[in-house]
Amino acid sequence: VSAMSKVTDTLLETMRRAEAGDGAGMEANIRQLEQRHVEVCRALFGAERQPPILAGIHALLEDFERICRGILMLGERPPRSVDEAAATGEKLTALLVAALLGARGVAAESVDGSEIIVTDATFGNASPIMEKTRDRARARLLPLIASGTTPVMTGFNGATTDGRPTTLGRGGSDFSASILAAVLDAEELWIWTDVDGIMTADPGVAPDAAVLDEVSYNEAAELAYNGAKVLHPRTLAPLVERQIPVWSKNSFALDKPGTRIVPQIR
Ligand code: ASP
Ligand code: MG
Repeated sequence: VSAMSKVTDTLLETMRRAEAGDGAGMEANIRQLEQRHVEVCRALFGAERQPPILAGIHALLEDFERICRGILMLGERPPRSVDEAAATGEKLTALLVAALLGARGVAAESVDGSEIIVTDATFGNASPIMEKTRDRARARLLPLIASGTTPVMTGFNGATTDGRPTTLGRGGSDFSASILAAVLDAEELWIWTDVDGIMTADPGVAPDAAVLDEVSYNEAAELAYNGAKVLHPRTLAPLVERQIPVWSKNSFALDKPGTRIVPQIR
């Protein structure tokens, strides 16, 4: 899962405020993030289920606040602290989604991507080390799946071999998903977003833009590199070797088929 819309922007901006010595602005942002997630919790869950989820939200935001206070004191943003804190949005969503599945009778467990995705130390734009990720993903996730528990992993984040937190670049949750699909030998990858699929143009600019039924890896990669926001540009790379097809689907329009991204158009 990804963070909720604009949450990562706010997290990063909060750390910039802390670095600039704006403690009040930092606090205000944290309260806003807290309020937003608490509201979602109250909207999704009955009163009896809320306490542990609210406690989880507070604990994650306390961790975030602790890092921000360090930045405020130092007047500097150490890259590994930024990457650790930047994934707070995903951790909040993973908590909420796993709890929601549980409330609907689907056993689920939230998993921190930093336990699974092993990366190099390029903070802010790390690359996965696939063999190590494969071992960790299979050791941690396959037993969960085998026992009927759905893992809900945070997108966007990972950690170096020696455990330093990293992130995969903005929009990197798609990339996390494709890394997982590759190392788990998935038959297909489905990416749920808020648009109907890959379109012929940006619908905000071209009102007659249409959704494409099928595009090739090459076409999708080209679109992503040229700035189409529907897919993170590095998403397809891990899938090429096993030729895993990808569906880009709209979570707000379940009846629409979305776009299928395939190795080659037949
Ligand atoms: N939340 C992260 C970002 O905004 C990752 C993602 O959304 O895929 O960049
Ligand atoms: Mg996202």
